[in-house]
Amino acid sequence: MKFYDTYSGKIVEFKPLHKGEVRMYTCGPTVYDYAHIGNFRSYIFEDIVRRTFKYFGYKVTQVMNITDVDDKTIKKSAELGISLKDYTEKYTQAFFEDIDTLRIERAEFYPKATEHIKEMVELIKKLLDKGYAYIKEDAIYYDISKFENYGALSKIDVKNLRKGVRIQIDEYDKDNVQDFALWKFKREGEPFWKTEIGEGRPGWHIECSAMSMKYLGETFDIHMGGVDNIFPHHENEIAQSEGATGKKFVNYWIHIHHLIVNGEKMSKSKGNFYTLRDLLRIGYKPEAIRFLLLSTHYRKTLNFTMEALKQATKNVERVFNFYYDLKTTVFKEKEESSEVKEIIGNSEKKFRAALEDDFNVSLATSTLFEFIKKINKIQSAGGIGRKDSELVLNSLNNYNKIFDILPKKLETEIEEEMYKLIKEREKARKEKNYKRADEIRDILKDKGIILEDTQSGVRWKKRSDIS
Ligand SMILES: [Zn+2]
Repeated sequence: MKFYDTYSGKIVEFKPLHKGEVRMYTCGPTVYDYAHIGNFRSYIFEDIVRRTFKYFGYKVTQVMNITDVDDKTIKKSAELGISLKDYTEKYTQAFFEDIDTLRIERAEFYPKATEHIKEMVELIKKLLDKGYAYIKEDAIYYDISKFENYGALSKIDVKNLRKGVRIQIDEYDKDNVQDFALWKFKREGEPFWKTEIGEGRPGWHIECSAMSMKYLGETFDIHMGGVDNIFPHHENEIAQSEGATGKKFVNYWIHIHHLIVNGEKMSKSKGNFYTLRDLLRIGYKPEAIRFLLLSTHYRKTLNFTMEALKQATKNVERVFNFYYDLKTTVFKEKEESSEVKEIIGNSEKKFRAALEDDFNVSLATSTLFEFIKKINKIQSAGGIGRKDSELVLNSLNNYNKIFDILPKKLETEIEEEMYKLIKEREKARKEKNYKRADEIRDILKDKGIILEDTQSGVRWKKRSDIS
């Protein structure tokens, strides 16, 4: 496995800390509202990474935090006059519903910030002891001048930034503009925790350091997030964790690029802002939305348009129809074909190579469509036999381990009785008993089952499925 590591700035070969295992942390949602499609682009890519490692036989442990205390959640819950817990619970539930809708596999752990105050306080105490943090009237701050490697991830020259930039610092009492709050002391009307370092609440950055190390160890394999998290969030995570432990925090950093809509930055004021729920309301299918969000390489900007979503819908339908035909054809018994085997083997090889090469999903996708095209060509030329059809279906299911766009179960099944009739009709036809064959066709038609003769065998459809 090779992929682009933000920290070293190059494509690197992945070497896990523990053989056959991947431990990864992915920055999760702040549960103050419904997540938007830009957020889901990241979560879906992280799902692809997770599935790719599993595909190659790794055991994956993934942690995604739920930020259920911060300025936004506090402000919104106060506006509505409900408790922070009730407010964030609603959007936490919505988040889980949405990721299930998009078939994003569940991570192993979803720690909530409010349930890990103790771990954060421990970490801050360490930073105070080691001289990386200082106490002011309004907060405990991290002193970035004490951390030599600050800026190594984002390549930002912090020293120059400090000299040149004079931004409004009235609100803060910190020594340096770039210093950030680890712990914010109690303010009127805000929720707070009573702790050894005083009454207050954690800053955002400290939660990711505390919770990632709790579940994955002081050093772990991969940390992911959107490119907008590189600075300052991830830079600060490194400073906090490495300051406290003196060990390397993360071995590989992977960052997902932005999503724009019609070539513009998504924003509520421009009217081009979409949550998943908005798109479902318009009538788009979750599988199509998933497919669109995963199909652009993660290091390129994804330009989201309704046109592209329509195209994704068509693409998903193509895969679905291919699957449906495999499931509803009564395949003829036939010798296995070396050509089919060769297509399956070559396509899967190409597919694996694409995934191994910096998670090249775009190439993996086109490989799937090429595969479908080639098999369809054989189907319409001489047809494929039952044994080959099983190999093809098996291969399609392999692709689906990554894409996950096929129906969970085929909604249309036919009863055993009907299936027997189809078989009987086949036999009658072979015996040139066309009268009986036609009779059976009519019986099935009355039951809403339409038959279609193909090179590979007879294919059935339920009338309700044909739109
Ligand atoms: Zn984070």
